[in-house]
Amino acid sequence: MKKPGIRPLRSLLTRNGLIAVAVFLVGAAISVAAMRFVDQLRETRLQNEFEHLAELHAASLEREIEVNLEAVRGLRRFLHAVPAVSQRQFDLYTNPLEDRMQSIQVLEWVPRVKHSQRAAFEAATRADGQPDFRVSERDAEGRLVAAAPRDEYFPIRYLSPLDANKAALGFDLASNSLRRAALEQARDSGKLVASAPVFLVQESTRSPSILIFAPLYDGLATNLSERRAVLRGMAVGVFHVDEIVLDALHKSQLDLADVSLRIRESAALQRDELLFAHLPQAWDKSPANLEFRHSLKVAGRHWIVSLRPSPAYLAAHRGAASWPVLLAGLVLSAMLAAYLAHLLNRQRIIRSQVREQTRELAASESRNRAVVDTAVNPIITMDQRGTVRSFNPAAERDFGYLAEEVIGRNVNMLMPEPYHSAHDGYLSRYLASGDPHIIGIGREVVARRKDGSQFPMDLAVGESRVEGEILFVGMIVDITLRKQAEQSLRESKEQAERANRMKSEFVNMMSHELRTPLTVILGYLPLLKNADKMPPAAMIVDMARDIQASGDHLLHLINDLLDLSKIEAGKLDLHPETFMLTDTVSEVLDRLRLKAQERGITLADETGTLQVRADPLRLSQILINLVGNAIKFTQGGSITIKARSLDGHAEISVADTGIGIPEADLPEIFDKFRQVDSSSTRKAGGTGLGLAITKSLVELHGGVISVDSHPGVGSTFTFTLSHSEE
Ligand code: ADP
Repeated sequence: MKKPGIRPLRSLLTRNGLIAVAVFLVGAAISVAAMRFVDQLRETRLQNEFEHLAELHAASLEREIEVNLEAVRGLRRFLHAVPAVSQRQFDLYTNPLEDRMQSIQVLEWVPRVKHSQRAAFEAATRADGQPDFRVSERDAEGRLVAAAPRDEYFPIRYLSPLDANKAALGFDLASNSLRRAALEQARDSGKLVASAPVFLVQESTRSPSILIFAPLYDGLATNLSERRAVLRGMAVGVFHVDEIVLDALHKSQLDLADVSLRIRESAALQRDELLFAHLPQAWDKSPANLEFRHSLKVAGRHWIVSLRPSPAYLAAHRGAASWPVLLAGLVLSAMLAAYLAHLLNRQRIIRSQVREQTRELAASESRNRAVVDTAVNPIITMDQRGTVRSFNPAAERDFGYLAEEVIGRNVNMLMPEPYHSAHDGYLSRYLASGDPHIIGIGREVVARRKDGSQFPMDLAVGESRVEGEILFVGMIVDITLRKQAEQSLRESKEQAERANRMKSEFVNMMSHELRTPLTVILGYLPLLKNADKMPPAAMIVDMARDIQASGDHLLHLINDLLDLSKIEAGKLDLHPETFMLTDTVSEVLDRLRLKAQERGITLADETGTLQVRADPLRLSQILINLVGNAIKFTQGGSITIKARSLDGHAEISVADTGIGIPEADLPEIFDKFRQVDSSSTRKAGGTGLGLAITKSLVELHGGVISVDSHPGVGSTFTFTLSHSEE
C-alpha cells in the first residue's frame, strides 16, 4: 500500500528534490524582487507624476498670491498718487478690484496718527460721515474699546467693502502684537510684509486671514530712520488664506479631488497650526513619501505648502497592482521547479536505465566473451576490410598465433595460397554484389598455421551488423583427424575391394590352373582304359610324361597354397642354420638350369663365400621363386645372383634381363593373388602367390624385400637376411 503524501515528501529530500526546491526559492526571490522593482517603478512614476501636478498647483498658488500682493501694491500706488484721499475716491478705486478678485477680503487705508493728532483725526473722520468713529482696540475680553493713549496709532480710516466690515473702522492695527510686528517690519523695510495668520476683528469664525502691509512714505526714505520718520501709513490688504488657495486651485484647472493640501507658516511654533487644509480627511490616507513640499514666500513670510495625492488620485494613477507579478512569478517558479524536478527525475531514471543496460551489456558481453573464450573451436571475427577484430584462445591454440599477433591484421595471414591472395577479392565482391563465396554457406578450406604448416578446416562464416558496421564471424573446425579417418576408411575400403577382386581373380585363375593339368591327366586316361586297343608303347611313355608334369604342377599349386595358409596362420616354423650361401644358390640353379637353357638363358652365381644364417629349405624356396619368375619372364639373356654384406646383413639380389614390370604394378606385385595383367604373364602361367610367399618368408627371417624393374630392361629383386661371419 502506497501512503499518499509520503512519497512526494521523500522525493523532496532527494538531491533532485532539493535542487527543485532551491530553484523554486530562487524563482520566488526573483519574483519578490521583480514585484519590488515594479512597485518601485510604479511609485517613482507616481511620485514624478504627482510632483508635476503639485508643482502646477504650487505655481498657481504663487501666481494667485502674487496677484493679491499686486492688488495691495496697486492700492499703495493709488494712495501715493492721491495723498488726501476721500472715502468716495477710495471706494471708486477699490470696488472694481473687489468684484474682480474674489480672494480680496478687505482693502484698507491705515494712516499713521500721532497721539497729538488723535483727537483732531477722530473729529475729522466723524465729520467725514463716520459719526461713531474712534481709534479703538480690543480689551482683555475681546471687546472693542477706545484705544489707550500711545505715541502713535494705525487706525483703519477707509476700508472696502465697508458694510460688512464697518466694525473694524478705527481699529488700531498697532494695538495687536501680531499685526504690529508685521506693520513695523513693513515700515522698517519699505517692502510688503504679511502678518502672521490672524482672526479678524469683524469676524469671529472661519479660517485665519493674513494682512499685507504696504508702507507709504512722505518723500524719499532710503534708510531705517528716514523710513520711521516719514512713514505716512499703510495700504493694507486682508485676505482669507483659504480663499486665495481655493482660487488658485480653481484657476489651476486641475482636479481638486486629486490633492490633499496643507499650508503652514514655517515660523509656526506648533507644527500642526495650519494656515489651510484642503481635503484634510484625505491627508492621513496618503503615503507620506509621496508628499510634495513647496516653500512659498508671501511678502516676507515663509509658507510651507504640502501636497499629497488623494486616495482617489492614487487609485486612478497607481496603475496595475504588482501582486499579479509576484503571483505569476511564483506560479512560474513553481512550474519551472516542477519541470526541472521532472527533468532531473527523468535524467535520473534514464541514467539508472543506462547504468542497468550497461551492466546488462557488460554481463552479456562477458557471457559472450566467456562462450567465445571457452569455445572448443576457433572463432575469429573480422570487419569488412578483412581486419581481424577478435581471436579466441582456441584459435590461438590451432593457429599457433597469439591474439595480439593477429588482431588488427588481415585475416588472409591465416590462409595459404591461393586463398591468401584471393581473399580480399572475395570480400569486396561479396560486399558489392552480395554473392557469397563462403559467407553464410560454410565449406572446407585449408588454413595456415604460424609455422607455415597447413591443416584442413571446416569454415562457417556468419555476418552480423553491429552499430551499422558489418562484422563477419568465422567458426572453424580443424578436420585433420576427420580427414585422416576418411582417408584411411577410403583406403581400407579400396584395399578390401582390391582383396576381394583379387580373390575372385584367383579363384578364376586357380580353377583354370587346376583344370588344365587335370584335363591333361583325365584326357589320357580313356586311351589307357581299353586293354584291347592300347596305344603303342612310345606313345604311352609320352602320355605318362605329360601326366606327371601335370601332376607336378598341381602339387606345386597345392604346396604354394598350403605354405601360404601356414604362413598366414603363423604356423610356419623356421629351422635356421648357418651355411655358405653359395651352397643353396648352386643347388637352386642346378634344379632350374634345364628350364633356363630351354629359354636360352645363362645363369650366374656371384655370391662368393658369404655365410648366412637362415632356414636352408625356406631360403631355397625364396630363391626358386625369384629365379623361377626371372626365367618365366626372360627370353634369352641372363640371370645373375649376387650377395654382399651390409650393416650386419646379407643383401642378396636376383637380376634378370627380362621384360620388366610396369612401374604402376610395382607396389602390388608382392600382394597375394597378384599378377601383372599382361599377355606375357598369362602365357607364363603361375598362381600370383609366389612373391607373396617369398615376401613372407623373407620377413620371417627378419629381412625385407624390394624390387627395381624397368620394362624391356629387366628386373632386380633384392632381399636381406641376417648373416653370420662364422
Ligand atoms: P606367379 O606365380 O604367377 O608368377 P608371382 O607372385 O611369382 O606369381 O609373380 C607375380 C607377378 O609378378 C607375375 O605374374 C609377373 O607378372 C610379375 N613378375 C614376377 N617376377 C618377375 C620378373 N622377374 N620379371 C617380370 N615380371 C615378373
